[in-house]
Amino acid sequence: MEKSLKTLLTEHGFSFKKAFGQNFLTDDNLLSDIVEKAGITENDTVLEIGPGAGALTRHIAKKAKKVICYEIDTKLKPILEDVLDGQNNVEIVFSDIMKCPIEQVEKKLGDKYVMVANLPYYITTPIVMKFIEQAKNLKAMVIMVQEEVAFRFASTAGHSDYGAITVGINLRGDAEIILRVPREKFTPAPNVDSAVIKITIDENKFKGVDFNKVREVVRIAFSSRRKMLVNNLMNGYKISRDIANEILDEADISLTDRGESLSAEKFVILSKIVAKKGIKS
Ligand code: SAM
Repeated sequence: MEKSLKTLLTEHGFSFKKAFGQNFLTDDNLLSDIVEKAGITENDTVLEIGPGAGALTRHIAKKAKKVICYEIDTKLKPILEDVLDGQNNVEIVFSDIMKCPIEQVEKKLGDKYVMVANLPYYITTPIVMKFIEQAKNLKAMVIMVQEEVAFRFASTAGHSDYGAITVGINLRGDAEIILRVPREKFTPAPNVDSAVIKITIDENKFKGVDFNKVREVVRIAFSSRRKMLVNNLMNGYKISRDIANEILDEADISLTDRGESLSAEKFVILSKIVAKKGIKS
């Protein structure tokens, strides 16, 4: 019989580290629901970031072909060995994922993969952006994040939650909130509620587009949220109002629009016009 998380942690004298964002999930129904909604099958290779005490890992391992986990805290090694005893499709790498070059991680995975993770809060955005921008073999991300971050990731143009990161996600795929998770489901309970978000990568979306150029325009468009796009373009590219107006006219964007009202499609159009005019930041 599988031991409860609390029993395991007590047996191993484990103490939680806030600095590593250690809030563990304890509810088995919730864990299996996450893996179910992630749609993991026996053909899937899974990357899990931060397995913690292996509660989610053990559910993923029952469904997936292979699970490769990256965990920063070596104190979790004996607990993970205990929890995952007999589960021979799981490998744990004890490393800081932020310090691992993505090509190295993808080489280890050796296949197209799905990321499934209850992410440590302090590195949620950097991890998501790192994989969204650099991953070559990522099929989807199913990640637990703070609820307000989930709203931002899954937002749409025109909403106050919409920002550079939302556009970054929309350039590579589509995001949807698949589960809301109240704070009491974690040990220890954090101060905020969480949500599971699924980002499905669509390799054919904006194929052939110069993503670096689009990201440059996005960064400039959101450099000052309260300013109109025309002013951010003038400041970011050091161009005159006439040239900025001309760019917006050509892209069929209103001269009074702000970055937050532009879809990813519009940012792609804008970036092509800026590139065509030879304008650089
Ligand atoms: N997956 C477990 C669960 O759902 O109960 C634990 C999730 S807990 C929110 C986050 C985990 O990420 C912790 O185990 C923490 O030690 C680990 N972690 C934090 N920073 C990390 C990093 N930079 N690289 C890899 N793992 C990290």
